[in-house]
Amino acid sequence: MTLMNTQVKTQKEAPRENGSRITSSNGTLIRADKPMVPYIEGDGIGPDVISAARRVIDAGVERAYGSRRKITWLEVLAGEKARQKHRDSLPEETLKTIKEHIVALKGPLETPIAGGQRSLNVALRQRLDLYACVRPVKYIPSTPTRLKHPEELDIVIFRENTEDVYAGIEFKEGTEEARRLIAFLKENLKSEVRQDSAVGIKPISEYATKRIVRAAINYAVRNNRKSVTIVHKGNIMKYTEGGFMRWAYEVANREFKDKIVTEADLMKPDGQYKGVTPPGKILVKDRLADSMFQQLLLRTNEYDVLVLPNLNGDYLSDLAAAMAGGLGLAPGANINFETGAAIFEPTHGTAPAYANQDKVNPTSAILSGVLLLRHLGWKEAADIVEKAVARTVSQRRVTYDLARQLEGVQPVGTSKFADAVIENMQVI
Ligand code: NAP
Repeated sequence: MTLMNTQVKTQKEAPRENGSRITSSNGTLIRADKPMVPYIEGDGIGPDVISAARRVIDAGVERAYGSRRKITWLEVLAGEKARQKHRDSLPEETLKTIKEHIVALKGPLETPIAGGQRSLNVALRQRLDLYACVRPVKYIPSTPTRLKHPEELDIVIFRENTEDVYAGIEFKEGTEEARRLIAFLKENLKSEVRQDSAVGIKPISEYATKRIVRAAINYAVRNNRKSVTIVHKGNIMKYTEGGFMRWAYEVANREFKDKIVTEADLMKPDGQYKGVTPPGKILVKDRLADSMFQQLLLRTNEYDVLVLPNLNGDYLSDLAAAMAGGLGLAPGANINFETGAAIFEPTHGTAPAYANQDKVNPTSAILSGVLLLRHLGWKEAADIVEKAVARTVSQRRVTYDLARQLEGVQPVGTSKFADAVIENMQVI
C-alpha cells in the first residue's frame, strides 16, 4: 500500500554520524538511508506501545537492510512529560523539530474532558497542517472478532483533520462570548438559540474538502482500490456536510473524469453502464453518515476507501477498529500529501487504566510504524514487520484484549508481544 503521491528520492548529502534529516522538495520526499525520526512517547499507555513499536521497527529494518539502513530516533516532548519538564505541554521546540524532520512517530496524548486545555493531538495536526488522517483497517487472519466474515473488512478511512467542530470555535454557556454570539445570531441572522446554551461553530470549507477528497481518490487510483464513498450528513447540515458532498463530487467529476464513474451514472436505467463498474474505473458513491455505520457492518465488502469530515471520521474509525478486533489493532497516519510531512500514530487513546503495566496491545503502534516505513519507501522492512505481526497473532501469542476473546489463551504483555513479533521475523 502506498500512502504518498509524492516520489521518494535518495538523499545525496553525506549522512551525519547520528543520522541525516529527511527533507522534502516540491512534494518529493528526499529520503535518507539513516534518517533521524522524532518520536513522542505520549501519555498513559503511550510509552509502553511506542517503545515496543520502535523496537519492532528497528528489527524489521535491520532484517531487511542489515547495516545499510537505520532509523535514529529523536525523542521530542509533548503531553505530561513536556509539562513536567517545560511547563508547556506542546513546546514550540517539539513542533519545530517535527517540522524540520518531516516525519514523526507519536503515542497518544491525553485530553481533559468538559474543560481544561484543548487537544494536543488536534493542535499538532492543525499547526503542521497534516490535513489527512489516513486509517487503513484490514482484518488480520486469526484475530478474534465479533464478525462472521471479518475477511471482508479491508477499508481505508480518509478523515479531514483540520476543521469541522474540531476547529475549536466553541464557547461555554453563560460566558460573555456565548452571550454575544447568541445575541448576534438573533439580531442579525434571525436565528434563536437558548440563552443558557454553550455554542460551537462547525466550519467546513470548499478548500479543505477538495484537498482531502483529492487525496482519497488519488490514493484509490494509485492503489487499485474499487470505490470511494463520500460519507456526510448533508440531509440535516445542508451547507456544511451537504457542501462536503457537493465539493467532493466536483473534485471527482472534474479532476478524475477519466478514472471514475459515479453511482448515479452507473445506475441510470438508460445509461451505458447497466449497473456494472467498467474495469479499471473507481466507483464514487455517497452515503449518509448514520446509514454508513450499519452499511459497514452489514455490507462490509461493498466499502473500500471512505472519505469523511472530521467528527464522523473519528466515530467511524473506532467502529472499523472494533470490527477488526479492537482499538489496539488500528494504525493511523496524519499526512500533508503536498509536502510529505506526516505523523504516524495509533488510533487509540491513552487508556490510563492500563498505563505502565506492560499490558496493552502494541499492534496499532507497530502498524503505524509500518505506515511510516512505507512512507519512507522502505517496502521490504514494512512487509517483514506486517507478516511477523500476522504470524504472531496466528500463533495466539496475543495481549489481553485478544486473549480474552479466545478460549484457553494466556495473554502476553506488551514487550513480550514485541519480542514474539521480532522472533517471527527470523523465520520469514
Ligand atoms: P482509549 O484510550 O482509546 O481507550 C478505550 C479502550 O479501548 C480501553 O479501555 C481499552 O478497552 C481499549 N484500548 C485502547 N487502546 C488499547 C490497546 N493498545 N490495547 C488494547 N486495548 C486498547 O479511549 P478513551 O479512554 O476514550 O480515551 C483516553 C484518553 O485518550 C482521553 O484523554 C482521550 O482524549 C485520549 N485520546 C487520544 C488520542 C490520540 O492521542 N490520538 C486518540 C483517542 C483518545 P478495554 O478496557 O475494554 O480493554
